[in-house]
Amino acid sequence: KDVKTDKELVLSGQDNPTKDTENLKELEESTNDEKTPDNDRMVARNGTVMSKKKIVASLRGVDEAAARQILDEIVVNGDEVHWEDIAGLEEAKKSLKEAVVYPFLRPDLFSGLREPARGMLLFGPPGTGKTMLARAVATESQSTFFSISASSLTSKYLGESEKLVRALFQLARKMAPSIIFVDEIDSLLGTRDRDGENEASRRIKNEFLVQWSNLTKAAAGKDTGEDVQRVLVLAATNLPWGIDDAARRRFVRRQYIPLPQRNTRRAQLETLLMHQKHTLSEVDFDALLDLTRGFSGSDITALAKDAAMGPLRELGDRLLMTNKSEIRPLKLKDFVCSLRYIKPSVSQKSLARFEEWAKVYGSSG
Ligand code: ADP
Repeated sequence: KDVKTDKELVLSGQDNPTKDTENLKELEESTNDEKTPDNDRMVARNGTVMSKKKIVASLRGVDEAAARQILDEIVVNGDEVHWEDIAGLEEAKKSLKEAVVYPFLRPDLFSGLREPARGMLLFGPPGTGKTMLARAVATESQSTFFSISASSLTSKYLGESEKLVRALFQLARKMAPSIIFVDEIDSLLGTRDRDGENEASRRIKNEFLVQWSNLTKAAAGKDTGEDVQRVLVLAATNLPWGIDDAARRRFVRRQYIPLPQRNTRRAQLETLLMHQKHTLSEVDFDALLDLTRGFSGSDITALAKDAAMGPLRELGDRLLMTNKSEIRPLKLKDFVCSLRYIKPSVSQKSLARFEEWAKVYGSSG
């Protein structure tokens, strides 16, 4: 894997042969002839070294400190997620490929009527793989991935947030193809009458909507010289009903990410147990799948981690003297024990609410 030191950031999206790399080319050539200090370096997936300082300097009308903060904290580096790391969710993957990945990789095929959407919403219960999907989309579409949690915009960065939002969109345009992933979007685009919506958060929300509209307008015009067609706002929420009507309509696609079905739970458990000694038979697996009905993906990960501790727990202090090869394999009973503490985190009631919302506002099924 292409993991860099924390001083470096891995940018993707510069190695796509079909891409018009004009913008980044300038930056790349201008930095190759001199030594770029470590904390100023950005390394693209194809190994190209760029200077953050020069990227920032190339932006117009953007607060430099904010842009720098985006490059340091918001652009995601290393640790790529690929489609095959995500169990199940075939429908969501298919929809994301069609809406984002193919258009980003083959912009020549996706113009005019086939122009890609500029906003997509992933909604569903917590821990079902929304963030993983967003990361996989960025990897598979070879895009620069900007990941920000909306609640940090309205808390941690409050005061700086408007500048940050402006810098975020400018950088995403400069470094296109780009995915702007906004987690907990409901806290940014919540309904107006929501408790606690103060003047500051209203301003950030407006700035976000304005920048997003500008993107759409720029994409409609031809002469920007930027690759705005390939900048997408991908958002996730566990509270889709908290998004205000106008904002919701801007997400042309709204993809439901449901709790994992039996097959998906099976695939995930198999992956989790792949490198673990265990004695689970087909019959045990079936029993386990019955027992994990209603579990989210993250509940299943938590359960498997806890169960894997079973063989060590029963050793107590003897663990310190036991050879690794003598540790007994994992059994169904370890899972059964862990099920006493690890319970499904999504209630039937809230599940029903998601299903209902999906029926009314979802893009499919
Ligand atoms: P969300 O964004 O929907 O709240 P995440 O994508 O952050 O959920 O998933 C949380 C964790 O749960 C992941 O890091 C992973 O361990 C596990 N997980 C959730 N869904 C899946 C899945 N479909 N396949 C594999 N792991 C999953």
